[in-house]
Amino acid sequence: MAERLIVVGGDAAGMAAASQARRRRDRDDLAIVAFERGHFTSYSACGIPYWISGVVPERDQLLARDPATFREEFDIDVRLRHEVTGIDLERREIVARGLDGGGEVREAFDTLVYAAGAVPLTPAWAHTGARGVFGVQTLDDGAALRDWLESEPAPRRAVVVGGGYIGVEMAEALIQRGLSVNLVERGDQPMSTVDGDMAELVTDAMRGVGIQIRTGLPVTGLEERDGRVTAVVTAEGPIPADVVVLGLGVRPNASLAEAAGLPLGPTGGIRTDRRMRVPGVSGVWAAGDCVETLHLVSGMPVHVPLGTHANKQGRVAGINIGGGYATFPGVIGTAVTKVCGLEVGRTGLRERDARAAGFEFVSVVAESTNRAGYYPGARSMTVKLIAERPCGRLLGAQIVGWSEAAKRIDTLAVALWNGMTVDDMTALDLGYAPPYAPVWDPVLIAARKAVDALAGAGR
Ligand SMILES: Cc1cc2nc3c(=O)[nH]c(=O)nc-3n(C[C@H](O)[C@H](O)[C@H](O)COP(=O)(O)OP(=O)(O)OC[C@H]3O[C@@H](n4cnc5c(N)ncnc54)[C@H](O)[C@@H]3O)c2cc1C
Repeated sequence: MAERLIVVGGDAAGMAAASQARRRRDRDDLAIVAFERGHFTSYSACGIPYWISGVVPERDQLLARDPATFREEFDIDVRLRHEVTGIDLERREIVARGLDGGGEVREAFDTLVYAAGAVPLTPAWAHTGARGVFGVQTLDDGAALRDWLESEPAPRRAVVVGGGYIGVEMAEALIQRGLSVNLVERGDQPMSTVDGDMAELVTDAMRGVGIQIRTGLPVTGLEERDGRVTAVVTAEGPIPADVVVLGLGVRPNASLAEAAGLPLGPTGGIRTDRRMRVPGVSGVWAAGDCVETLHLVSGMPVHVPLGTHANKQGRVAGINIGGGYATFPGVIGTAVTKVCGLEVGRTGLRERDARAAGFEFVSVVAESTNRAGYYPGARSMTVKLIAERPCGRLLGAQIVGWSEAAKRIDTLAVALWNGMTVDDMTALDLGYAPPYAPVWDPVLIAARKAVDALAGAGR
């Protein structure tokens, strides 16, 4: 009889694991059933802001593989609109509930992949039931928001609560749709994934397209009329809103796993080993936004919910379940975002992370351009580097610029991943031609400046 693999969660991590396992083991050897409580499999949540803005016109462009493809080409039995409500590790079965009827089902497993993603942080004040309040975690959430934006009377005033990268991307999407947009952030800067000095550039760009930004201002409630949201409540008074988008961050969706007895780490994410196995529980694997991982620079466990990791971790789990060998070593915190035309990249530690990890360091900010200054289309680019003292090892980098900035972070990510010092980096053989870079690439200029700063600090 075929071994049975059950997958909880039908998006990036879950379906990457399922399809990799299938590539290595056929249906007679491994039966695969994937439970997904939403309406879609393998969709790009990352693309939701661009579908909301209209840059990506059709929802279905965000679907990488639908359930029929999984059934027909991969022999994976996808059960949409089925929510897994319990995992019994002793009886080795899961319990699921059909959300469109069909009652409760129980399915036995030999192997389990838990890939239930993350849940948006939703404060108590958001639970009023008022219509017009949305998180954007899944494609179903995105679809609900889009329907609301297209409903009558058409919403004109949006408030985005939370200035993380999702809040910032959503603010841009809403202003592109022609709404007036307020972004309200409790902390002292939006885009907290970069240091405050770099975030100022982002704030300026957002204000430049008309987004009102209010920082240091917690939202404490909602006002509503006839069941529709009309405003968010703050200490500075109500801010009118026909639509409210919550971008307050996420936490690992691990409650079901925890109830089943799977071990959680200090971040609240499920613990795994490098092969994405849950330690101490045979035949159980976890991947994606529900797990915690190792930060390779700080050495600390972290929860970094990004699609790039979810896909890789799911792939690693699937290869191992399929009988191969693969590992996920950890992350260095590389991420890129487009904000109102501005490109933002970051990798490694911010100043506050480096301090918290106990490093001695220097940090430098270098101003440059994406192309030779005389070449048409040359725009400013700001590179920040954080280097350990006295050795000069790169600990972190951030780039903000109008063009060709975001993917330059990859050069710095590779340097950081490989433990390079800023001294080594000054000699990197990077490409140069006037349409692509100044003769000294912004990365090299910043590395030279960091070497000078180390010398100035007596290393
Ligand atoms: C608006 C937005 C923009 C983003 N942009 C980027 C980006 O630019 N770059 C990047 O790297 N990452 C980005 N991300 C993050 C990325 O989308 C996630 O990291 C990735 O989707 C995580 O994949 P996952 O499979 O772990 O979880 P998810 O994609 O959340 O999938 C988990 C699935 O499990 C299902 N599920 C949960 N519980 C159950 C249950 N009990 N039973 C059945 N099904 C269940 C859910 O319905 C969901 O479909 C973005 C996310 C959002 C929301």
